[in-house]
Amino acid sequence: MGKSSKDKRDLYYRRAKEEGWRARSAFKLLQLNEQFQLFKGVKRVVDLCAAPGSWSQVLSRELFENQKQEDAKIVSVDLQPMTPIDGVTTLQADITHPKTLQKILEIFGGEPADFVCSDGAPDVTGLHDLDEYIQAQLILSALQLTTCILKPGGAFVAKIFRGRDIDLLYSQLSYLFERVICAKPRSSRGTSLEAFIVCLGYKPREGWNPTLDLTKSTEEFFEGANIGRSDNLEHLDLPEDEERLIAKFVACGDLNDVDSDATYTLDTNFKKLALDPVQMPTAPPYKKALEMKRRGDLVRR
Ligand code: SAM
Repeated sequence: MGKSSKDKRDLYYRRAKEEGWRARSAFKLLQLNEQFQLFKGVKRVVDLCAAPGSWSQVLSRELFENQKQEDAKIVSVDLQPMTPIDGVTTLQADITHPKTLQKILEIFGGEPADFVCSDGAPDVTGLHDLDEYIQAQLILSALQLTTCILKPGGAFVAKIFRGRDIDLLYSQLSYLFERVICAKPRSSRGTSLEAFIVCLGYKPREGWNPTLDLTKSTEEFFEGANIGRSDNLEHLDLPEDEERLIAKFVACGDLNDVDSDATYTLDTNFKKLALDPVQMPTAPPYKKALEMKRRGDLVRR
């Protein structure tokens, strides 16, 4: 989160800097928690796709500062490096790789997680169908890892985009959790298709022993659970009218709070009010270009 005119346009962005959050996404998790009390009784948490780390900051403040749980464990995983956060173990790793699960289990001393969250978003290619497919695969990978580590009764929250086949995902999730809700925090722009699936009360499938294996696709992984395949309706072992499920939609966050789609005007000289970033990016994509420019290797043709 940089120093830009966004301070003026987006009050959540500005407020995040004022309150010391690394990204405005912090408010999404805070508002989801307000609605669903996700952090209640939670000791071991996995934050998937966590960089730059605002969700991990929220988790760290909640478990260590508010709840004063000295023995709580938070593991945060991202492809990108993350600047350390108090009490949080950061792993620079791919959530789709089985070794990542092994590392998390080692940190938890073999104990299961109480709560897994994922705010994952892949780099967009601009090819709509491909982007939608990769996003869907990322959610399935997060869910896959979750089924291998979450305790019965535990909760899972993940970012989704309400695309064409989202009702199929709701249906699959309802086989694994007592309650599946589609939640839209007020800090998530109303104009975006972004929402969060909140899955409460994990109920492992009887007789299914989920194990991660590099040779298996996510579809093959879930085949054993008999909850249907994401890419092929014919494989769904469900009566036709139950193939798709409409999850309950819940808007969360204070309705009187600022509107994430509105543009606000700051009444004093904006330049003076622009705030420094809370955390400089650790590995921004433009870093290499800057280094090349400094060396004089970047030439205009
Ligand atoms: N929740 C974060 C926060 O509050 O700061 C923001 C997460 S950001 C929107 C999405 C992240 O997903 C990116 O940092 C990206 O590197 C990560 N990501 C995408 N694919 C991943 C993968 N396969 N494994 C791990 N991280 C991944």
